[in-house]
Amino acid sequence: MRNFVIVANWKLNGSINMISRFFEYLKFHSSIYLEKKTIIIAPPTIYLKEVNKNISNMNIFIGAQNVDINLKGSFTGETSVLMLQDIGVKYVIIGHSERRFLHNENNDTIAKKFFLIKKENLIPILCVGETEKDKKYGCTKQVIQEQLNCILKKSKKLVFKNAIIAYEPVWAIGTGLSADPEYVQLIHKFIKNHIEKHDFMNINDIIVQYGGSVNCSNIKKFLEQPDINGFLIGNASLSPQEFLKIIKITHDII
Ligand code: PEP
Repeated sequence: MRNFVIVANWKLNGSINMISRFFEYLKFHSSIYLEKKTIIIAPPTIYLKEVNKNISNMNIFIGAQNVDINLKGSFTGETSVLMLQDIGVKYVIIGHSERRFLHNENNDTIAKKFFLIKKENLIPILCVGETEKDKKYGCTKQVIQEQLNCILKKSKKLVFKNAIIAYEPVWAIGTGLSADPEYVQLIHKFIKNHIEKHDFMNINDIIVQYGGSVNCSNIKKFLEQPDINGFLIGNASLSPQEFLKIIKITHDII
């Protein structure tokens, strides 16, 4: 069976009340659907513990949306990988385009985060993807290659084992304009081939998710593509009805 991981990226959204309603709905309606796939919820840092409390006895994991490059010390406002580990976080999203562009994170910073996360045995979800301008000028593959190479060049091999890559074309995030599934398939194949060549991983073990305006009306065509191993979902993951529909459709097709 194909590896498949669904991640809800709540970004700067949520409240205690929303979390309680979200999981009440999931608990009431889901049963078997959550069993077969890996489901991760990434709420704002302040709500990680609240979500963790709500997922006990469910086949759901918590993920963080970011982490600092330092482990402890005078870094006001930051959260370290040790703290995330301390409260039961297993996955950490890094390299999201909103952090690259709104918080000036570059490939080197992201690589530092990647290695810290791996060193502490958590699983990085590394977001890569081109802007609209990159796509227009035919630079998509080059941009993604650079985003991957900053990690590959610092390791000997198998660095992407126990890691997830999320291909997120920047122009498709939060716009309602998802990428063409066949185009996504080509890019996922490119990512997998590049990693296989440089990281010596078995191509079948490489996990590449798609993210960018995924919702329950457009996922079927994505699920038909053999190299899509999951979704990273923003807006559509805030509604438990929509999120569960996505999980159910995935469950029926894969
Ligand atoms: C995201 O933020 O990673 C994302 C894919 O958002 P959306 O699903 O809203 O496009």
